[in-house]
Amino acid sequence: MIVASLPAVAAAWPAGVLVAVGLFGLVIGSFLNVVIVRVPEGRSLWRPRSACPRCGAQLAWHDNIPVLSFLVLHGRCRSCRAPISWRYPVVEIVNGVALVSAYVAFGPTAEFLVAGVLLAALIVVMAIDLQLQLIPDVITIPGIVVGLLANIVTGHVSWLESLIGIVVAGSLFLTIILASGGGMGGGDMKLGAMLGAFLGWKALLFALFVAIVLGGVVAIALLSLRLRGRKDPVPFGPFLAIGGAMGLFWGARVFAWYAGGFGL
Ligand SMILES: [Zn+2]
Repeated sequence: MIVASLPAVAAAWPAGVLVAVGLFGLVIGSFLNVVIVRVPEGRSLWRPRSACPRCGAQLAWHDNIPVLSFLVLHGRCRSCRAPISWRYPVVEIVNGVALVSAYVAFGPTAEFLVAGVLLAALIVVMAIDLQLQLIPDVITIPGIVVGLLANIVTGHVSWLESLIGIVVAGSLFLTIILASGGGMGGGDMKLGAMLGAFLGWKALLFALFVAIVLGGVVAIALLSLRLRGRKDPVPFGPFLAIGGAMGLFWGARVFAWYAGGFGL
């Protein structure tokens, strides 16, 4: 079972363990910020050390503590007082919450690690797509392979369901791309295939359903509030990422419930 009732499972894990998992999630989130900035620029993730983009001052270890440093520095560079993006603490907190949720859902298992990797990748993709309207291949293409291999190892879904997920997502997005003539990009297709690999085709369908409904509602809201024009692109990656996270936690259950309704 993927998700038992949350309070019951949470009670099964000592608070100390959940706090430790959350803190680890914050630290990983801090690294995800580096990935979000450097991957689109094609820069190394390991060198040089992080520095202020305005004055170039290198960050000391105590300026690099997740969330806390941002609060202590009031969101400004220690040297030149240039504002630091609020994206940094938000990414750290979201990843911390994501990792704790994965632990509550899966416990100390290989599936928890896989879920943590998927959620971290989705956070990175979402942040980059929101900022630059692109979904980097260096994340999604290896993601397809990792998702398939992870399922072969853990058996969370069978390798066949994973493979079908890749094919279903790939062909669905290819059809949309060809039919719409540029309404959606190849990046969305590869992200969809990655979700198919990790989730299997059943949970993938739920993830796509969530993404399309959510994307439609937000697009209509942006249009009617005149925040976006009819011609402005609204990136689809963030909705796929949210749908993918929901598919991870609830997809199999929702599919079973839905299929059950039709006596399948
Ligand atoms: Zn500075």
